[in-house]
Amino acid sequence: MTDGQKNKIIELRKNGAGYKAIATEVGMSRDAVRAFCKSRNISGFGAVTVMNINEQTENGNICPNCCKPITQPHKGRRKKFCSEKCRRDWWKEHPESGTQKETAQYRLKCTYCGKEFISYGNKNRKYCSHYCYIHDRFWKKEEGRI
Ligand SMILES: [Zn+2]
Ligand SMILES: [Zn+2]
Repeated sequence: MTDGQKNKIIELRKNGAGYKAIATEVGMSRDAVRAFCKSRNISGFGAVTVMNINEQTENGNICPNCCKPITQPHKGRRKKFCSEKCRRDWWKEHPESGTQKETAQYRLKCTYCGKEFISYGNKNRKYCSHYCYIHDRFWKKEEGRI
């Protein structure tokens, strides 16, 4: 079985195709297709499999690209893909999922020093730097007391 065939089977299963249809499509026997699906946990009725795959992917149980089970680390960030290769392959196939909104940029004026600065994603920033923040909040007050 080639990688191309494996990927094709997974792709077709994700779309709810039955073993027979897949077998014809990839040119393998129905039994071989079923055995492969069993080994990847994508056997069963088409519709159930689709639901299953979606749920398993969301829970981080299986890799959305190859449907192999993922071993999650005990600590830290959860993995979405079983390997770096799968991650890259998947994004290549689904570029539209990756269009993250560009962080908005705001041109603002520093309340303390009056300098213009660019704030990323936050239009309510008042100071260009921590320095100005500290000076405005604490130093001014103290000066005022004298
Ligand atoms: Zn994978
Ligand atoms: Zn400033």
